[in-house]
Amino acid sequence: MAIKNSLALYIHIPYCIKKCNYCDFVSFKYAPHKLEAYVNCLLEEINIFCKNIGNNRLTVSTVYIGGGTPSLLTPEELKSITSTLNQCFDLNSVTEFTIEANPETITFEKFKEYEALGVNRISMGAQSFNDKTLKILGRVHDSSKIYKSFYILRKAGFKNINIDLMFALPNETISETIFSLKEAVKLNPEHISYYSLMIEENTPFFKMRDKLNLPDNNTEFLEYKRGMEILKKNGYEQYEISNFAKPGFRSKHNIQYWKNLPYIGFGVSAASYIARVRYKNLSNIAKYCSEIKKGNLPIDFREHLIGKEAKAEHIIMNLRMTDGADKKLYYTRFGNFMETDFKKTIDKLKTIKLIKENKNRLALTKKGLFVANTVFMEFLP
Ligand code: SF4
Repeated sequence: MAIKNSLALYIHIPYCIKKCNYCDFVSFKYAPHKLEAYVNCLLEEINIFCKNIGNNRLTVSTVYIGGGTPSLLTPEELKSITSTLNQCFDLNSVTEFTIEANPETITFEKFKEYEALGVNRISMGAQSFNDKTLKILGRVHDSSKIYKSFYILRKAGFKNINIDLMFALPNETISETIFSLKEAVKLNPEHISYYSLMIEENTPFFKMRDKLNLPDNNTEFLEYKRGMEILKKNGYEQYEISNFAKPGFRSKHNIQYWKNLPYIGFGVSAASYIARVRYKNLSNIAKYCSEIKKGNLPIDFREHLIGKEAKAEHIIMNLRMTDGADKKLYYTRFGNFMETDFKKTIDKLKTIKLIKENKNRLALTKKGLFVANTVFMEFLP
């Protein structure tokens, strides 16, 4: 398995103190002994992967521990993960090592130890600074915990912090949503993810969707537009549909996904993409661990992306970024011109001003950013 260029590693920790009302991520109720048992399976999965690739010690550029709530890991558990990764991969070139954290799990002592283990970026799930909304969302923390946790992170030495925030929230006025965003900006994190709430199937919100007082499309659009203006005014560059960063603080790990470059995921439901093969792990923890105990990789499905599907996937991922899709890179990958392969679609989207094109790139217009999913559908075979 030859892997050139940069490689990103993702580790999934599927436990949370309580399930949020809108959450469709693979996450289960936390108990220390369950997490401990899961980490043992995870370490074994990394070891099996390692044996399969033999002496080929791959060089990694970014590590991202997501979930769930990975900040439930004890420093000892995190250490066992980083040590096992170290035996398999060359981590000397890692420039970004992120862990997702929820405010209620952040303590100075724990995060000081995380930092000593190489973590240099924290992505904190705040979601809102309005206590009423946090309750409706089913979050465990209140707003005071967000401020406290942010100061703890700074005190522990973290100079690269993301805050996750949502808009299009139930029972919230535009001014309440904007208040929340302004509170996040006041903390001056290096990165803000500002994204709209999606009502996903199999969530409590889906069941009560008719009773949720959700904003209409126009209000949602205004919350997004106003948010973009505030973030820009405060020195945050928008580099992806929902992501804004101070100069020099764009998420390298996520850019790896959006540039359609290789990544390997470990843990339940983790996805990997190598040499145009995409595969996903089992989502059921018992089945995941049972496969590993048999000495197998816990893969649920694998697909080889070829032809028009691979090309469309590449463009869609690239278009998420405000820089858009690089035509030269497309030609290098596929040996064809993007503007020839997708001529009809590009012409149509240009006519209705949803994408813009120059000699080197194809990108969403501002109008296109608001309806990105509709644009992406147009590229699908
Ligand atoms: S903290 Fe995140 S992963 Fe956990 S239940 Fe809430 S939304 Fe889902």
